[in-house]
Amino acid sequence: MTRVVLSIGSNVGDRLARLQSVVDGLGGAVRAVSPVYETAAWGGVEQGPFLNAVLIADDADLDCHGWLRCGQALEQAADRIRGQRWGPRTLDVDIITCHDGDEEILSATAELTLPHPYAHLRAFVLTPWLAADPEATLTVAGTMRPVSLWLEELDPAERASIRLTDLALRTEIAAD
Ligand code: AMP
Repeated sequence: MTRVVLSIGSNVGDRLARLQSVVDGLGGAVRAVSPVYETAAWGGVEQGPFLNAVLIADDADLDCHGWLRCGQALEQAADRIRGQRWGPRTLDVDIITCHDGDEEILSATAELTLPHPYAHLRAFVLTPWLAADPEATLTVAGTMRPVSLWLEELDPAERASIRLTDLALRTEIAAD
């Protein structure tokens, strides 16, 4: 059984519908969904703001590469156009962490880097992640700390770069 934290974002077209397509595509695998945040784009390319959210999902059969392929299939289904680095995108699905049972999967290849190398630097990952899982932890350079602490250490300007919206993703998470 693997459990992933996914960061999803869109800044082209019907942004909320793009994010919803991921929740719908994962169906019964979804365990938690964050609120939706709006974030100015990173990387200096002139473009509209992103909607961002974090999902937590699990699956008995997928390994971390399976989750990567699953994310890429959802990007393609959302007419993902691969253009400029840091450029506009209909849908971006990043794997932030992957656990197999209690064991965190680490990966250091270009195809799959886990944990995601920028996760601890980005308010649009940490803030929704903390909302979806207040107990979440993230390992950076061998040091595991609560996501709340990584977030506290961010530059205040980065923390202020995201805005909570009143948009919501629909889920069918069954109550335990
Ligand atoms: P991007 O265009 O920024 O979404 O990057 C996509 C590329 O990053 C793909 O070729 C993936 O194989 C690679 N990649 C490496 N690590 C990750 C990760 N943790 N999550 C998603 N894509 C990843």
